Amino acid sequence: MPYSIMMDSGHGGRDPGAVYKGRQEKDDTLRLALAVGEILQERGVDVEYTRTTDIYETPYEKAMEANASGADLFISIHRNSFPADNEVSGVESLVYDLSGLKLEIAEAIDEELATVGFADLGVEARPNLVVLKRTKMPAVLVEAGFINSDADNALFDQNFDDIALAIAEGILDTLIRNGLVEETRVNGEEEEPPENARPLYRVQAGAFRSGAYAQRLRNELLEQDFPAYIREGDGFQRVQVGEFGTLDQAAEMEKRLKRAGYPTVIVS
Ligand SMILES: [Zn+2]
Repeated sequence: MPYSIMMDSGHGGRDPGAVYKGRQEKDDTLRLALAVGEILQERGVDVEYTRTTDIYETPYEKAMEANASGADLFISIHRNSFPADNEVSGVESLVYDLSGLKLEIAEAIDEELATVGFADLGVEARPNLVVLKRTKMPAVLVEAGFINSDADNALFDQNFDDIALAIAEGILDTLIRNGLVEETRVNGEEEEPPENARPLYRVQAGAFRSGAYAQRLRNELLEQDFPAYIREGDGFQRVQVGEFGTLDQAAEMEKRLKRAGYPTVIVS
């Protein structure tokens, strides 16, 4: 079963969360939780959301929802606020207590977010927060900057994609390090095709109409320990060397053959 994460957007519906100059925490948290979830999903993690629209649920309901879903990890996205505007800025993560996987993930998220430009205010234990206390799985609440800090809001808006990626990376890196999630390649880059569709690369040292020339070249190569053989087809006898699963391996063989004085081409 793939590892599953419950993404929680703080507040929602009739609970706007913190508000500053008309900006509502519930909107920022929904947007960010969805963006983080999308990246996690792309990396092969199962993602569920406590909400994908502007609805209200109590923190207790959110925790129960996570428990019922059987999610392996709970990530709650919030924005911080401070009694006085523009006094404090930075990110901090909250966990039930300072131990275990949740602490590792919380620290990794803060560190990643610091690379985007946020001050790292560290990880804090908050044993009385309902979503941290009532969830059965490791849970981390991320305060993604202060909503009443103009600097943090500018960072949030201008680097939104990097912030989502930073949170996802902090989570994934920690899960991979702990052997809970396998490292996956992004965007299909270097993705291996299924076994039976994989092309084979051969290095071709010559193609002859005459079988005698082909055999002479093959024997010459075999004497020098090259795994040479003849393939017939289309009226040609092709002297080829090796069968390689990757182009790099074929190129390596081609280099050896060139050094030994044989002009070659790679065929697949
Ligand atoms: Zn909040």
